[in-house]
Amino acid sequence: MTIRYCTKCIFPETKPDLFFNEAGVCSACQAASQKNVSIDWAQRKSDFEKIINHYKNKPGEIGYDCLIPVSGGKDSTYQVYFMKEVYGLNPLCVCFETTNLSEIGKNNIDNISKMGVDVIYFKKNYKAYRSMVIEGFKRVGDEMWPNHLGIFTVPIHFAVKFNIPLVIWGENPQQEYGGPLESVQNKHLNRRWMEEFGGLLGNRIQDMVGVDGLTEKELTPYFYPSDEDIERVGLTGIFLGHYFFWDARAQLEIVKNHGFGVKEDGPVEGTYTNYENLDEKMHGLHDYLKFVKYGFGRATDHACIDIRNNRLTRQEAVELVKQYDGKYPHYAIQEFIKYSGMSKQEIDLIIDSFTNPVLFVQDENGNFKRDNAGNLVKNFEIS
Ligand SMILES: [Zn+2]
Repeated sequence: MTIRYCTKCIFPETKPDLFFNEAGVCSACQAASQKNVSIDWAQRKSDFEKIINHYKNKPGEIGYDCLIPVSGGKDSTYQVYFMKEVYGLNPLCVCFETTNLSEIGKNNIDNISKMGVDVIYFKKNYKAYRSMVIEGFKRVGDEMWPNHLGIFTVPIHFAVKFNIPLVIWGENPQQEYGGPLESVQNKHLNRRWMEEFGGLLGNRIQDMVGVDGLTEKELTPYFYPSDEDIERVGLTGIFLGHYFFWDARAQLEIVKNHGFGVKEDGPVEGTYTNYENLDEKMHGLHDYLKFVKYGFGRATDHACIDIRNNRLTRQEAVELVKQYDGKYPHYAIQEFIKYSGMSKQEIDLIIDSFTNPVLFVQDENGNFKRDNAGNLVKNFEIS
């Protein structure tokens, strides 16, 4: 079959919520060219400064000026650097750790406190969380499901409890990776944004009650705080990427100078870069599940950003994607076997149940064909 690809980047038409204009340019590229041309960044910066001047403590007052949700990733370190060093604020950081934290991720979280800020490290109920990881994998084909939720809800609980109205998020993923216009233009991250655009795949926390006997009470941190609480604190969450031009590679150089570590021995599984998604050992499985559903993986995401920022030509990107995208994630699967207690066969069967039969070749018995390296045989070619 032939998949239609964006004429500028290499996003495929199979990507959910992606739209093409008459020239065959995708909505993510259109949003990016807006970033380069029509957005008045000086005005946005001034809007941002108005916001923080409104929210930060008065001189002489003690307390936290804003809250930053953090993980062991690059963006967190950049957000902390930006608010602390560029704007001189005293942020409270809240870490909701990933499912299976890597050593690099752990060091990067430790490093954040060394940058001169307080970090609350939320050690979650392992049993409840693990049940949701396995259920998310089986039900919606995403073992990161409870993580997508917890990174949005847990920091907000602390913002409410500490009475910190301003929450600083990093990039707007919808802006960088393409999404409905409404989600791109939205500068606020609130409950509605999380539910619609937070990658929850239509599954709600209420739907997890009863899984392995989980009670609502045990799932407390995953329920978004009540509207009443949000209003009392006057909580507002903003994306830095809405106010400042977001360039991951330029930020990388800055955070490396502030102690951020990357994967020195080669790229992260599933892509060609060594600085994204390095805090989670099983990230390769998450990306692979996207690949079997839609025919593109994390390398495509990264290559598209590099094309838009003029760091790769379209042809170079095509070659990289052929080399890295959609390879069976052996390392992540081994880690997931240990974490879940499931066998490789069980895991593979579930992955197959999410694999798109139009995109991948099956044999006469309806089993997906694999090459010698265990990779799916594609029914399409990127061009
Ligand atoms: Zn595009």
